[in-house]
Amino acid sequence: VSNDLTAMIAGNELAAKLYHHLLTNTDQGKEALEYLLKRGFTRENIQDFSIGFAPDSWDTLTQFLQRRNVPLNFMEQIGLLSKREFDGKLFDRFRNRVMFPIWNKDGKIIGFGGRVLGNEQPKYLNSSESKLFNKSQILYGLHLARPDIRKKNEAVLFEGYVDVISAWKAGVRNGVATLGTAITNEQAKLIRRNAETVIVCYDSDNAGLKATYRAIQILEENNCFVKVAKLPEGYDPDEFIQKNGSEKFRVEVIGGSMTTMAFKMSYLRKGRNLQNEAERMQYIEDVLTEITTLSKSIERDHYIRQLAEEFSLSLDALKQELFRLHKLKN
Ligand code: ATP
Ligand code: MN
Ligand code: MN
Ligand code: MN
Repeated sequence: VSNDLTAMIAGNELAAKLYHHLLTNTDQGKEALEYLLKRGFTRENIQDFSIGFAPDSWDTLTQFLQRRNVPLNFMEQIGLLSKREFDGKLFDRFRNRVMFPIWNKDGKIIGFGGRVLGNEQPKYLNSSESKLFNKSQILYGLHLARPDIRKKNEAVLFEGYVDVISAWKAGVRNGVATLGTAITNEQAKLIRRNAETVIVCYDSDNAGLKATYRAIQILEENNCFVKVAKLPEGYDPDEFIQKNGSEKFRVEVIGGSMTTMAFKMSYLRKGRNLQNEAERMQYIEDVLTEITTLSKSIERDHYIRQLAEEFSLSLDALKQELFRLHKLKN
């Protein structure tokens, strides 16, 4: 690791200490602490995940780092400080935000995600992309979750930091998250180095379901065995835990994980009226198209039988249609 990177990490570690202190021990952090506790975070979560608070101030962090002789130009490069246009003066970039440190896989702080306390925009602000902080290669929570991921040979993939932390509180300690972007090949490889099975547990809204489709593809291309958590429509994992508790989350959502094919079938059903003949035929056709992508013949057989049974169709007809679709594809 180069000297620059070491200095940047040291700056992040100092900033995290300051933010955590401000949140847990000062009047300035009171409102943020109340916000977190009201959202269901525990004091233990706040410790375990080193959560902090960046006060509504232009220079608290700047002065703190300056007093400790941290090279401020580095802090600007990684996006903890910003530079005022007209005179080059540095100021705190994160203000009035709850701060979530983001670690690399060795547990070093390489960046932050900062969340507003209310509904202001942008909801989350991340450290800037730099040679230290490369979003496409980071999995939030990996250094904490890794022992459990390895033990279970299974990881749970979330959309947000908050979901990882809530799941941790609920006893699911093999969770990681991408930082608000679609999963990349690098991230899929990183997961695969630690576990074979990945349970995708994205938000159950339109964006989340689309992202799930895409994540399945990328994870499978990287030889992961993929399952999809069973989260009722409209929820994100954190909201589910708030509303229904830890036990139900572990047993029903994670324990009830579906095969990717079952997920795709339920997705293809959405908004379709299967009582209507034309829509039913289109659904069957779409499912058969998905079945052609399955590499194992026993799996293809299983789902064809399932279709045949549900819609009272002959296996022969379905197999012929599958064969036709398969030829069309190649
Ligand atoms: P919360 O429960 O605090 O509202 P969330 O995790 O449910 O947060 P989502 O809107 O579902 O938030 O977004 C999922 C993830 O996407 C966030 O955790 C964050 O990493 C990222 N994200 C969301 N909005 C933004 C944004 N405006 N800029 C950058 N990243 C964002
Ligand atoms: Mn979302
Ligand atoms: Mn969400
Ligand atoms: Mn949420």
